Amino acid sequence: MWHRTELIRSENLHRAGELIKLGRLVVFPTETVYGIGADAGNPDAVAAIFAAKRRPADNPLIVHIPALAELPVVASAVSTLEYALLESFAPGPFTLVLPRAAAIAPDVSAGLSTVAVRVPLNTVAQRFLAVAGRPVAAPSANRSGEPSPTSFAAARTAMSGRVAAIIDGGDCRYGIESTVVKVDSGRRRVVVLRPGSVTIEMITAALTELAVDATRSRSDPDHESWSSYRVCFAGDLGAGGDDAAAASPGTRHPHYQPRAPLYLLPGDRRELLCPNSFGCRVGMLLLESLPDRLHPTPLVKVFRDSEEYGRLLYRSFAWFDSVGCDAIIAQLPPAAGVGLAVRDRLTRAAGGRLVPLQPR
Ligand code: AMP
Ligand code: MG
Repeated sequence: MWHRTELIRSENLHRAGELIKLGRLVVFPTETVYGIGADAGNPDAVAAIFAAKRRPADNPLIVHIPALAELPVVASAVSTLEYALLESFAPGPFTLVLPRAAAIAPDVSAGLSTVAVRVPLNTVAQRFLAVAGRPVAAPSANRSGEPSPTSFAAARTAMSGRVAAIIDGGDCRYGIESTVVKVDSGRRRVVVLRPGSVTIEMITAALTELAVDATRSRSDPDHESWSSYRVCFAGDLGAGGDDAAAASPGTRHPHYQPRAPLYLLPGDRRELLCPNSFGCRVGMLLLESLPDRLHPTPLVKVFRDSEEYGRLLYRSFAWFDSVGCDAIIAQLPPAAGVGLAVRDRLTRAAGGRLVPLQPR
């Protein structure tokens, strides 16, 4: 269905809140990417999100709340460890999977009994959620399979005519989607279903600190055993990873793809890159510095670290597509910190394609 899309400035958020209450779709900024939001308790509004994005019905949505005080409306239960993790990382780019409360439309969870919950840090998002006055289900505001919008212009390009309104909130601070986490108390592990800007190292450090604090205060007998939890990435779990992928269906779908085919360059092979072997217009994403035989051009972007790489990744894809690149080459960052999330997005966008390299 075609809509006349209102553009809403961050001073006029009451209008965005009204539209959510009417069951309409509103695109809003967060610190990760722009989201396409609807009343999470309204099944028709939730169905409209799937239609606007052409999102497969088996890919669940994240529910956004302005503060942890609203958690009981969304989740039917939360353990002391889960709450402690939320207190450590919310508000922020951190999403936790919990049992779903009755007030949330079941289609939000795409058939699962759980729901993913996040408190965004972005102040426009927080004010919008407060005026909406109800939990807002919101996936990234891209069409399914395409890169997520990280600026107002990109959100407008992706969603004009498909939603009731788009809020202008400038550029997104992190640029890649939130870290999605599930606590598996049976196997005593905190599973990162989707890596993001809250890194495995940060979660591990928080867990250690929480275990120490809990042992000191001895307020709950279960606290003392938190130190036996491991933090792991679902992508590294091997056979067990299948369980985790089933538990996070979004990770099964093709995602984040620019129009130009993307080729991965392993970080330790970059000196073998031969720019002439492509014979076409190639965009490049590199980390830290240019390899010797390359010269700077508007089509070569060099990031100083994985954080900057993540923040500008989707904007670079959009730029390469807008100038008509025939192919994109992207160097894989090391799998540490935010690098793990950047590698995840690049690997899925490339569908496993590697750059053809000159022999050593
Ligand atoms: P997006 O909204 O595009 O950022 O994608 C949301 C991500 O959260 C997808 O990877 C989903 O698989 C994941 N997700 C949402 N709800 C759940 C849930 N109940 N259990 C596991 N993963 C979830
Ligand atoms: Mg998405």
